[in-house]
Amino acid sequence: MITTTIGYPYIGENREWKRLVEKFWKQAISEDTLQAEWKKLRITHLKKQQKLGLTQVTSGDFTMYDRMLDLAFLFNLIPSRYRSLEDVPSLTTYYAMARGTTDTVACEMTKWFNTNYHYIVPEYEGATLKLNHNHYVDWFLEAKEAVDIDVKPTLIGPMTFSKLTKGYRDKELAHYLLELLPLYAQVLQQLVDVGAEWIQLEEPILTTALSEEDCRLAEVIYTQLVEAVPQAKVMLTTYFEALTDFERITNLPVAGIGLDLIHGKKENLAALRQHGFPPQKTLALGVVNGRDIWASNLQEVAQDVQAVQTLVSPQAIWLQPSCSLQHCPVTVANETMLFDTLKDALAFSDEKLGELVEVSGYIESSEWPTPTAVSASMKRIEALKNHASRQNESVSTALAKLEEKDFKRTVPFTERLALQQQALHLPLFPTTTIGSFPQSKEVRSWRAAWRRGDLDDAAYEAKLDAETLRWIALQEEIDLDVLVHGEFERTDMVEYFGEKLAGFAFTKFAWVVSYGSRCVKPPIIYGDVDWLAPMTVKETVFAQQHTDKWMKGMLTGPVTILNWSFVRNDLPRDVVAAQIALALRKEIHALEEAGIRIIQVDEPALREGLPLRQDNWQAYLNWAIDAFKLATSSVNTTTQIHTHMCYCEFNDFIDPITALDADVISLETSRSHGELIHSLKENPYPYGIGLGVYDIHSPRVPSADEMTTILEESLAVIPANHFWVNPDCGLKTRQEPETVASLKHMVEAAKALRKKTLQTN
Ligand code: GLN
Ligand code: ZN
Repeated sequence: MITTTIGYPYIGENREWKRLVEKFWKQAISEDTLQAEWKKLRITHLKKQQKLGLTQVTSGDFTMYDRMLDLAFLFNLIPSRYRSLEDVPSLTTYYAMARGTTDTVACEMTKWFNTNYHYIVPEYEGATLKLNHNHYVDWFLEAKEAVDIDVKPTLIGPMTFSKLTKGYRDKELAHYLLELLPLYAQVLQQLVDVGAEWIQLEEPILTTALSEEDCRLAEVIYTQLVEAVPQAKVMLTTYFEALTDFERITNLPVAGIGLDLIHGKKENLAALRQHGFPPQKTLALGVVNGRDIWASNLQEVAQDVQAVQTLVSPQAIWLQPSCSLQHCPVTVANETMLFDTLKDALAFSDEKLGELVEVSGYIESSEWPTPTAVSASMKRIEALKNHASRQNESVSTALAKLEEKDFKRTVPFTERLALQQQALHLPLFPTTTIGSFPQSKEVRSWRAAWRRGDLDDAAYEAKLDAETLRWIALQEEIDLDVLVHGEFERTDMVEYFGEKLAGFAFTKFAWVVSYGSRCVKPPIIYGDVDWLAPMTVKETVFAQQHTDKWMKGMLTGPVTILNWSFVRNDLPRDVVAAQIALALRKEIHALEEAGIRIIQVDEPALREGLPLRQDNWQAYLNWAIDAFKLATSSVNTTTQIHTHMCYCEFNDFIDPITALDADVISLETSRSHGELIHSLKENPYPYGIGLGVYDIHSPRVPSADEMTTILEESLAVIPANHFWVNPDCGLKTRQEPETVASLKHMVEAAKALRKKTLQTN
């Protein structure tokens, strides 16, 4: 039995990958050094996997920024706005596409299926494609040299890649594929030529709702590809859900099919039972969860594999995690802050690979099941289940007592709006920001010193207060209408709250990539969540005391806290969401008591929690919206609740955000503004709304004129008295000069519009 991965995390145990690329961006290292160091990292990872006992490793799971962008670049899908940068596209062009430059906006970025990872959207402009330098060959050869087990190159498959490309209309897809498929074939051929046998093509798109036409397209694509490169043994791997059309996909003319037996377990098993599996094909089973951090119940895993073995007899069975381990941290081994009962019940990437090896050992050994090893895994899970942190009675009693009125504001929005206007006296088109200001080198150094114990609490807080005061002065100078304190005390919008709530644990190194080089370290929700003491009141009140303008209270919403954490797997997610909501409700109450009148509850991750299949959306949305409302609806009528969302396409999401009943929403839109305007025209949004007017993911400073254009377009679909002006998202990753400059242009644009509107009325 082969044990393998779909992909191993590229970031490194200590985020070495990220550090290197960021050094390169700052020109602190040369491209040669970057490439040489990255190579060392890849080889370390390969050797580690071999040592863990895998019988096959994967190459091509690495990236220079994003794996979709790698492919786009390989196929020369370089939008014309970057073409003038260089004659021969190099990393300069590549990173310009990823991050933008002073003159060009970056490519659009969006969520990778239902994960917290965001990829760069390839853009097809109709130009002829060609193959640029093929890194997949380099990576394969270097892997062959590094380990003496099988190496399987992997690429995102043509179906997923082309469906996620933008820029062509439906009827142009055939033309696009005509360009694309020969290039895929060339890449496969080049890999075969240097000795690759199995080649994995990742096709998560095949687990989403596919039309009849899409299924036919998959047949055309794979028939052509396999005909073009008959020597390649294609392992078509799918993940995140069960296959949509099991029979047709498993019968595509490829050598192997990979199935997710975690997220699509029930359906995939039922389909295997119903349709069988082509006996001449290899079946790769994703049997340990590649997206969570919990140790598997090895008995259950072994039984799943055995169940498959009784149903079908493929040519061979491979065991692998359910998806690429890119969504899972690297190893539990370096964690020193966790209590034993919790640590024992965890498994990150390395431990998950160990589980695969163990399970394959059991299944193949004659004494299976080895009772001690299997029961040891179950005992560890059981111990956490019985831990005191999971038996908080005050939380379960409060949840049981909830009534319908706890989820509703007492006065409808139209009436609230008038009362809030009277209370807040904001100008037309109020300007504000999303909450965070740059986490400068200084801010980070203070935090590091404080964590080391070199700064005591009082000294640290004094420094943060001074930074808040400095930014209040800057905001007043820029002339923003609603101010924020800047979130300098927060490294991360979820971690900060988790550290102050009961039920959360924190790791030292459990990083996963969110986009590009940006990594997040999600907290672990292992116990019942409970509010212990005010979390944001001190900073917000301090800031409010130092300005005559309104200071916005800033909280992270319950659904985002849930979706950006690793969540206990012994309770349904809606119950955990309600626990968090109750805790936030108390915090909002505390802010209100302290005189804060505008409170923003960020839910950037609301959309990303959506199940992949649309049939399951409503059930999720019902409890997610309830959680937001449970947290926010107890406030006074004149207290204005804001929310903020980013990284998502809102075009089909107006109904859910309307259901939140938030007074104002700010949306990230600058990378796909036009589409949203269009859908707002069709589906007006009845609450206050600020469409982000500039992209904060790029250091570029847009001109006031550019923002005016966006504002005017937006004003065509949003009533003036509902209209807010703000950047796309928080500014913590930006530098101060570009932040101040951009905000000045933004306020200038808002004021001009205000003047114009007031004059014409
Ligand atoms: N308030 C947060 C900030 O400004 C929101 C971040 C986000 O939406 N991702 O950083
Ligand atoms: Zn945001």
